[in-house]
Amino acid sequence: MAERHRRTPEQYRLRTRLIHGNRENVHWDFDHHLVPPMSASSAYRLGSAHRGAEGFETFAADEDERPPIYVYDRFDEPTRGMLEDHLADAEAGEMAVCFATGMAAISAALGVTTQAGDEIVAHHTLYGCTYSLLTTWLPRCGVTTHFVDAREPESVTRAITPRTRVVYWETPVNPTLELIDIAAVTHRVKAINAERLPDEKIVCIVDNTFATPYCQRPLQHGADLVVQSLTKDIGGFGTDMGGAAIGAMELHGPLLRYRKDCGGALSPKSAWPILVYGLPTLPARMVNQQKSAMRVAKFLEEHPKVRQVSYPGLPSFPQHALARKQMVSPEGRFAPGSIIYFVLQGDEQTAAKAAEWLINTIAREAYSITLAVSLGQVRTLIEGPYAMTHAALPDEVKRARGLEPGGIRLSIGLEDWHDIIADLAFALGQV
Ligand code: PLP
Repeated sequence: MAERHRRTPEQYRLRTRLIHGNRENVHWDFDHHLVPPMSASSAYRLGSAHRGAEGFETFAADEDERPPIYVYDRFDEPTRGMLEDHLADAEAGEMAVCFATGMAAISAALGVTTQAGDEIVAHHTLYGCTYSLLTTWLPRCGVTTHFVDAREPESVTRAITPRTRVVYWETPVNPTLELIDIAAVTHRVKAINAERLPDEKIVCIVDNTFATPYCQRPLQHGADLVVQSLTKDIGGFGTDMGGAAIGAMELHGPLLRYRKDCGGALSPKSAWPILVYGLPTLPARMVNQQKSAMRVAKFLEEHPKVRQVSYPGLPSFPQHALARKQMVSPEGRFAPGSIIYFVLQGDEQTAAKAAEWLINTIAREAYSITLAVSLGQVRTLIEGPYAMTHAALPDEVKRARGLEPGGIRLSIGLEDWHDIIADLAFALGQV
């Protein structure tokens, strides 16, 4: 008799698991579909009043082992549920909860971990809307933020007070690509937590959008919660918005209840392409995009009109050793991602004028590079973060944090890298 080859999904590599998922899935029997179905039902037929009551009673109860009782899309629904299982697997978390956008996921992550009177310690440079959330909206709820340079873990510890409940950062940082040592920061926060009561513990939240779980899994370095903009590399094709918060099971119930009451649930019609096209192709796209990013970064570094290039893959990157330690694919290979930040020659004013000229030339003449915000899709995108994605940060704050008016952000896509370099070379020749 032939020997049976029956390995559980966990015994396969992440790249394979993101394509095949878990066929014994509580959300849906998709053993007979090659592709999981897209559900489209805002409410669910309940066989009896008792069943309806049970649906409400068991919602967000993690100790309940039975398959979920679907009642209403905003509470829970199967296509999004499958995506959540896959995202938890990708980030090495116990659970994931998906939201309509990355910002909805970040709001929820901070919403469930803070209340009036609490404080957040955050790295000083963040995506503009996250900065605006921390400085405009959370203070209205009585939650204040202290900004520090988290590249120096001691500056995080110094800013922590008895009221601190969250330490928050992106790594790599949008757009400058500075890195924060996840293990070093979380190690120090855990030492402080060891002296605290359970409801006073500090939660470390890492925005892993730039790296993606292919290049870095912050939970494995000690973070408590990861937030992702699924709009970027995980969605990958630029068709849908989405966000996720991923971490330990103890935050699952609060995140589901927050989503139930505040809204912002990811639509199953947006979850489906991320589940079917985005996540399964993430490793293949990232491998190719970062190979091209390395070539483009080297080209820029050697170009006489470029003053500074930040790309974690370059040996000249100031935190290259940390990048090699922290940004590693599930197969153990160095994975520095696909985003590059660079500045042209000259003083601040000259570099800013040159950057505008370069970006306009690309918008007008380039075929392989598109002027647009967002990042992490099959198309290579260029933008000027100072006046665009990071407009919400005050000028003096940006300058103090190394974000120059002439900074240029490139998100490398899947085009042939020769074409990307040719379009950049032409535009640089016009500056
Ligand atoms: N986090 C980072 C690092 C981002 O770059 C963005 C968007 O650009 C977000 C979060 C927000 O994601 P979304 O646009 O999906 O709300």
